[in-house]
Amino acid sequence: MSKIKIAELFYSIQGEGRYMGVPSVFLRTFGCNFKCQGFGMPRGEMSQEVESIAARITEFKDYKELPLVSTGCDSYASWDPRFKDLSPMLTTDAIADRITEIIPHGEWRDEHLVITGGEPLLGWQRAYPDLLDHPKMAGLTEITFETNGTQQLTPEFKEYLKKWQLRTWHTGGPVREITFSVSAKLPCSGEKWEDAICPEIVREYEQVGTAYLKFVISTEQDFADAECAIGAFRAAGFRGHVYLMPVGGVETVYTLNNRRVADLAMKNGLRYSDRLQVPLFKNEWGT
Ligand code: SF4
Repeated sequence: MSKIKIAELFYSIQGEGRYMGVPSVFLRTFGCNFKCQGFGMPRGEMSQEVESIAARITEFKDYKELPLVSTGCDSYASWDPRFKDLSPMLTTDAIADRITEIIPHGEWRDEHLVITGGEPLLGWQRAYPDLLDHPKMAGLTEITFETNGTQQLTPEFKEYLKKWQLRTWHTGGPVREITFSVSAKLPCSGEKWEDAICPEIVREYEQVGTAYLKFVISTEQDFADAECAIGAFRAAGFRGHVYLMPVGGVETVYTLNNRRVADLAMKNGLRYSDRLQVPLFKNEWGT
């Protein structure tokens, strides 16, 4: 039986992107290929906010006790090795059991599954089929992978996802759908363009399901960078929708940006994504 290292597993409302407002189970896997220490910092500077938290690591017995940050990656503990002991390795059986405990009716109805991170398309691709084939997951019809768009799908997983969607077509059951919510990282993240903007990989996601781009925007420069990235994705043949989303893992930062980013999206004919989890739940862990 496969195992997955899980940073968080919780039930909430999807606050971002295509499924905004939909009741969702969030499976946050451990591990990421990026650090994104540039978020919320002056260009070229890297956030050190997590350093002081890591220095007090022994004070925290549970993921939920960790402080929120206003700069850098807001899910730092889902990939920073210093926090790895807060993320248990669970069998796919244990994950399926836990999911049926947290969804309201003990079975899938209109809820959707968000597999997020960290970067959920790193090594865990090999374990997802075991989880999705579990009898307790049979009623699930919609899955979103929240990815940074840099990880190729393995040929095996690609075929598996295609078949997962086809299964219900053949039996006349409800339509199943896979979505890739691609948060491609702009230079404001602190990551290098050549590592972060990978149009050919995202084109491949479109062969398997619906893929859309979601850019986190703070400044005019971020938007100019997003336009360059959109050009590169379109030149490679990407057909999906594009969302602009305000920076802001904490409410003070989010409220400075949201209206301006919404205006930018409207002016340029792009979609706006809110971060409903910030005004609704203050972006606390488990929301
Ligand atoms: S890709 Fe996402 S999870 Fe990984 S470091 Fe960047 S913001 Fe954090």
